[in-house]
Amino acid sequence: MNKIFIFFVHYFLVVSMHCNAQHFSSGDVYLTNYTMMKGQSVIGFVKWRSGEIVSVKIEGEDKGGFRIDKSYRLSVNSSKLKDKKQWYEITLKVSGSLGVVSKQFRIMNDNFIRNKVIAHRGAWKNTGAPENSIAALNHAVRLGCEGSEFDVRMSADSLPVINHDPSVQGVSIAKTSAEELLKLKLANGEPLPTLEDYLKAGMMQSKTKLILEIKPSELGKENSIAATRKIVALVEKLKAQAWVDYISFDYDVCKEVMKLAPYAKVAYLNGDKTPAELASDNFFGLDYHYNVLQKNPSWVQDAKSNKLTINVWTVNEKAMMEELLEKNVDFITTNEPELLLSIVK
Ligand code: MG
Repeated sequence: MNKIFIFFVHYFLVVSMHCNAQHFSSGDVYLTNYTMMKGQSVIGFVKWRSGEIVSVKIEGEDKGGFRIDKSYRLSVNSSKLKDKKQWYEITLKVSGSLGVVSKQFRIMNDNFIRNKVIAHRGAWKNTGAPENSIAALNHAVRLGCEGSEFDVRMSADSLPVINHDPSVQGVSIAKTSAEELLKLKLANGEPLPTLEDYLKAGMMQSKTKLILEIKPSELGKENSIAATRKIVALVEKLKAQAWVDYISFDYDVCKEVMKLAPYAKVAYLNGDKTPAELASDNFFGLDYHYNVLQKNPSWVQDAKSNKLTINVWTVNEKAMMEELLEKNVDFITTNEPELLLSIVK
């Protein structure tokens, strides 16, 4: 009798633990940082969104080069990393109060370019590639831009695709299925890029960052937030965290990204918040139209004192590029990356 009772208690414990592990997806575990500079030993902390961590074990092909301390801080032991690679793959097996999760992470050697040049919708104007095409992204990479910006929208059946306007070739993205949208071809014959294909193309290199703009949905806030969740989940699934920075005109979208991905660098586009307001909401930076900074000349200094980065869009004239470089802004978003590159070099 006792043995049967113990068997059932054991059975229910195992089943309930299993259910917990299923309930909490690997998306709940994240790192506070995904890159390492030369000579850097501490990468960041392991965090679990929905519970307390009890233990963390490192697995995966590059596990020998990394260690975890008692506060779940991830460090690198460079001398034990066998080969010099662009990135290292580790799996973290995290046990917590709510279950066990295994998740793969990619830690990048930070060789990203720092020259302030952000190609707006890729490098299209002087290359003949369509805006927001993978070809335009590849041109921005080839030119050696620090970042290449692109716009993301969600199909009616929740597939994120790359396009600036709500409609492409007269077809509403938010009201059309992915199957229909993916039949459309850009002017260079490329299919309308999905976010997945776009990120995979961007991750073929490790010099140019991918500046992901989440467009507010024409169907309303709920849709914009749903798109944001899809987009962040896809970035994490592809292990693209080190490549991607986020921008949006929608303040709630920005805050949702920071909630889902506290490690992410997020900048606000709409120009109606002071640097102090952005700083108190933990933004990485402001990304404002040059008119906004002309109307609020103190904001450059205010942003710097609030430790926010400053990105200015969309600057296509040489004189204004020079003026902004003089003010030491962090990034300039431009349709003329070739011109800006010739000035910063
Ligand atoms: Mg954009």
